[in-house]
Parts: sequence; structure tokens; C-alpha cells
Amino acid sequence: MKSLLITIDGPAGAGKTTVSRMLAARLGYSYVDTGALYRAIAYAAKTARIASDDAALEELCRKIKLEVIPRQDGFCLMLDGIDISDKIRTPEITMLASAISARPVVRKYLLYLQRELGKNKQCVFEGRDMGTVVFPDADMKFFLSASLKMRADRRYEELKAKTGQTREEVEKDMACRDKNDSSRDIAPLVPAKDAVMIDSTDLSAEEVVSSMIRRITHLI
Ligand code: C5P
Repeated sequence: MKSLLITIDGPAGAGKTTVSRMLAARLGYSYVDTGALYRAIAYAAKTARIASDDAALEELCRKIKLEVIPRQDGFCLMLDGIDISDKIRTPEITMLASAISARPVVRKYLLYLQRELGKNKQCVFEGRDMGTVVFPDADMKFFLSASLKMRADRRYEELKAKTGQTREEVEKDMACRDKNDSSRDIAPLVPAKDAVMIDSTDLSAEEVVSSMIRRITHLI
């Protein structure tokens, strides 16, 4: 059986994480949510009291040790030996991750780490620039989108018990992140030319995964 490297890019709330996890489980692959890596740097910066526009971010990236350890249901994120997987999902870290992700030094550091993680293939990578920058030669690329309203509804349902944000706040943060991600100079959120576009507005996660499987079976 041929080993594939599959990328799924798209805006926040399009369903990338759910779908990547399901697709990886079906194929017996691992998956990496690369947004979590940007969140980890944001968490490290916040802990060290370094702002997103601070030159000290470069030294921080040199010093930290970030590890992605596969688990049965995904992966565990270790920062300097401490499991931070559950600490990176706050609204503050979300917005800080969006700001620091525009810094070339952060993207350079994570580019190397992501390529190392993907070197043995058999992996689904999800993010914003997987098919365009990190893995331009991926075996299969998807770009998953959905309307802003649907994405905000989904994210609100997911977060309401945890963060106390209102539906309006969730949508506002999401629109702001869409703008940051799409307009930054380095690795902006755009579909790769050879990506298969899927609009998940009216589709269940199961339907999205089935449509992806249909597109890749001939490659395996
Ligand atoms: O996917 P998630 O919402 O967890 O990503 C957090 C932030 O990390 C995004 O808003 C985006 O700015 C950044 N990111 C990125 N490139 C990726 C993945 C995430 O710039 N490949």
C-alpha cells in the first residue's frame, strides 16, 4: 500500500480538525493540527511576557523545545517537557497565535518542525499553508471552506461551555483572524492551485470525509 501525505487547508471553523482526525483514523495515519503549533509558540510568548511584535520572539524560538507526541486520539503537545495540549485553546491564545503567525521567524521555525514530522508520510496535516508552502509536493491537497456564519456557529457550540464568549464575539474574532491570515505577506491563507475545494457549509463531517476518501482511493 502506498504511503500518502495529505494536506487540508482552510479558515478557522471549516471543520479541518474533525475531518483530519476522522480521515487519519480511516487510513490508519497520524494527523497534525498545525494551528496547535502556532498556539504553542503564542503560549510560550505569553508565559515569557513577549509581545507578538517583539524582537525577542526570535530568541524564544531558538530556546524552546516543542514536541509533538502521537497519541491514539491525536497528539500531545509538549513545551519544554510540559504537556500544554489543554492550555492553548483560550480566546487570548487564539488571537495571539493569529498575530505571531505573521512573524517570519515563527514560520521559519515551524516550517522545519512540520517537515520533520511529515518525512515518513502516512500523515494528514491541517492548517493554512500546508499545500502551498510546507508540503507543496503533497500527494493530495484539500481546501475546506464554509460560510462565516456556519463556521462561527460551529465554533460557538464547541467553545460555549469552556470560554463564556458570546456567539457575536466568536464571529468577530473569527472574521478578524480570517483577515489576518488571508492578508499577511508570508504564507497567506490561499488554496494551492492543485487543491480539491470542498465547501462544508451544508455537509456533515462524515460526508466531507467520504468525499475525500473517494478522491484518494486510486492513489493508495
Ligand atoms: O487552526 P487554529 O485556529 O488553531 O490556528 C491558530 C492560528 O494559527 C490561526 O489563526 C493562524 O493564524 C495560525 N496558523 C497559521 N498557519 C497554519 C496553522 C495555523 O498561520 N498552518
